[in-house]
Amino acid sequence: MPQLPGLLKGLGVTARTAARTLFPKRGLRTLIPAPQQGSVTVQYPHEKEAPPDRARGVIALHEENCTACMLCSRSCPDWCIYIEGHKVKAPPRRAGGAVRSVNVVDRFDIDYALCMYCGICVEVCPFDALFWSPEYEYSEPHIADLLHDRIRLSEWMETVPAFEDYEPGSEQKVRKVPDFGPDDFLPERKLADDDAVLAPAADAATSADG
Ligand code: SF4
Ligand code: SF4
Repeated sequence: MPQLPGLLKGLGVTARTAARTLFPKRGLRTLIPAPQQGSVTVQYPHEKEAPPDRARGVIALHEENCTACMLCSRSCPDWCIYIEGHKVKAPPRRAGGAVRSVNVVDRFDIDYALCMYCGICVEVCPFDALFWSPEYEYSEPHIADLLHDRIRLSEWMETVPAFEDYEPGSEQKVRKVPDFGPDDFLPERKLADDDAVLAPAADAATSADG
């Protein structure tokens, strides 16, 4: 039996799918279309679906945790994360320790016109500064407006879902990095206002007192 050309096969699949959509649960015997009972495309923006909590909608920045280490920017396959910062002196962590040199973020932009939502930046961040939010309504008429600066990225934090409890047994895991909170960095940021030390932030974040 000669094989049907691919085009005819494709048309057949399309016709069957259209029939199932137009006449769901009725078969072709009842020629009264009822597409509202079949599978229909969600009529966005008139209808909206609620995405799962962990959907990759937009990336939020918890700026207090960011050390401008550039790891996310260097790992991004699309090179669409732009970070600038400067170094400041910070008090020693322990009494008698040396004055430390830490980075302060001046610029943190993500260009969503380029982002492919792979999530690598969120995964590699060692300081829990990036999070996924399920929000997806940020389309823009002008492509340049898809560049979100650090203020807008920080605002997305309000839409990040709360963390779920760890699975039984997983709470025994030891964190690889210290649990920095906002108070750990606030004094350092105040030092920035005093123009303690300025230097290019492209250098990796280092700590002089270990
Ligand atoms: S999700 Fe992927 S492409 Fe988008 S900014 Fe992060 S690393 Fe880059
Ligand atoms: S990897 Fe994390 S801490 Fe480092 S620059 Fe990116 S967001 Fe900031």
